[in-house]
Amino acid sequence: MSERRAYDLQTHTDASPCSRTPPDRVARAAVDAGLDGIAVTDHDTTENVAAVRAAAPPGLEVIAGVEVTTTQGHLLALGVEHPPPKTDPQTVIEDVHDQGGVAVLSHPFDRLRQYYDRDLSAIARRVDAVEVCNSRCVRKRYNDRARSFAAKHGLAATGGSDAHFPMEVGRARTVCTGDPLAAIRAGETTAAGRARYLSGHVATKLHQLLR
Ligand SMILES: [Zn+2]
Ligand SMILES: [Zn+2]
Repeated sequence: MSERRAYDLQTHTDASPCSRTPPDRVARAAVDAGLDGIAVTDHDTTENVAAVRAAAPPGLEVIAGVEVTTTQGHLLALGVEHPPPKTDPQTVIEDVHDQGGVAVLSHPFDRLRQYYDRDLSAIARRVDAVEVCNSRCVRKRYNDRARSFAAKHGLAATGGSDAHFPMEVGRARTVCTGDPLAAIRAGETTAAGRARYLSGHVATKLHQLLR
């Protein structure tokens, strides 16, 4: 029996414009959250992966990742050497696979951020997994829709905090046994976590402000 392990498969460092968390703080936050590992997924760069890895204690696995800006939504490239091109989802997925990595749709139906709204069945045929629990989705239905999409297409489910601050690390997790990328390919992951959902009223206000 291999033991169940918990990974936060979406974290940001100060290599992302929207985060100010230095690499060593991300590593420390992951340990404090009791995680077995994290994926470092800065926007379109792998610049800080090595620094997080250097700061991580022996028990903490650090997966090299990128949150890729596609022509639709964001896409998590996990287990890649370099950032995939910022282009259409199909080409990005192909590049991730060419690098031996795993491609995950990131908060795919969060309409307050970048989201996917076309070619969905074609994308579902190529992608490896769907992030069904993203703790930065302010409306529960965005995560619910991702979860039903994954179930409908028989895709693996992942969870990630999308942390931009240390205290957010670990708020959403991917649970599996053994290597997380192998578990994703085998469709043997589960996703859990909490999100800071805003009430419908606040979300509407926010939406109006963002329009
Ligand atoms: Zn994103
Ligand atoms: Zn993100």
